[in-house]
Amino acid sequence: MPELPEVETVRQGLIKGILDKRISEVLIRREGLRYPFPEDLPTIAGHTVINIRRRAKYLLMDLDDGRVLLSHLGMSGRYTLFSSSEANAAAQPLLGTVNGGVPVSRFGERTGYGGKHDHLEFVFADGSRAIYTDPRRFGIIDLFANIEEPVHPLLESLGPEPFDAWNASMLARKLHRRKTSIKIAILDQKTVVGVGNIYACEALHRSGISPRTLAGSLVRKNGKPTLRLERLVGHVKDILNEAIASGGSTLNDFANVDGELGYFAHHFAVYGREDEPCLKEGCGGTVERITQSNRSTFLCPRCQR
Ligand SMILES: [Zn+2]
Repeated sequence: MPELPEVETVRQGLIKGILDKRISEVLIRREGLRYPFPEDLPTIAGHTVINIRRRAKYLLMDLDDGRVLLSHLGMSGRYTLFSSSEANAAAQPLLGTVNGGVPVSRFGERTGYGGKHDHLEFVFADGSRAIYTDPRRFGIIDLFANIEEPVHPLLESLGPEPFDAWNASMLARKLHRRKTSIKIAILDQKTVVGVGNIYACEALHRSGISPRTLAGSLVRKNGKPTLRLERLVGHVKDILNEAIASGGSTLNDFANVDGELGYFAHHFAVYGREDEPCLKEGCGGTVERITQSNRSTFLCPRCQR
């Protein structure tokens, strides 16, 4: 599942690929994904993408008429970009059919699945295209006026972004007297957005904090953060920034080859490393896997307390 760094990487790739382009047509190949597509989706044709923002794991494309096209990659969504020459090189109609009429894209070899999961195809005035592919169809597409953004049901209750202005005092206020574990608390999008399962495990490991620690115990009685909580906030920022930086460089390599926007493989210190040695210098512990709220947590019981 794409986490915040992957979504930020996709945003940066979309900025390079489609910013300031005018949409001439959108090909819609099914009725929706997790929710039905908005009925007015075809009306984005004729409008220009003037900005591409990210809020938590939502991509927000600002159009020149004051509307916002929201997309969420769900479990398996991705965008693939094709230049006009690549699109023209297909040298045949770009909309084909299989299985008695199910429309597929002609980019199936590049987007995968024979093109059967290329649900949306954005055609730009310069002939380039952006294809949204999502085999598991948990993605979300929505379209709304930008003045509605603060009260949009998917966006209104999101917590702060885990970057610049976010700090340990803000987190302490959210965690004060919370009896839940710190791992579950930082996965809660009302506490802070975009710290998914992988990065929560990694940040807790780097901080030496057990994921089972009660969240409230990392806050002093007067509501101020403990040193351990200060450290955790620093490591959350570092780990997300490192992942974004490595995603960006991978993306550049990809783009040189075929303009594809993809995810990237990380080398994690604990995530997915059950029964392997802890990578923290001098620790000598062994990574364990436990379950918290039905999700896997990886930790080193020796250096995480
Ligand atoms: Zn360890």
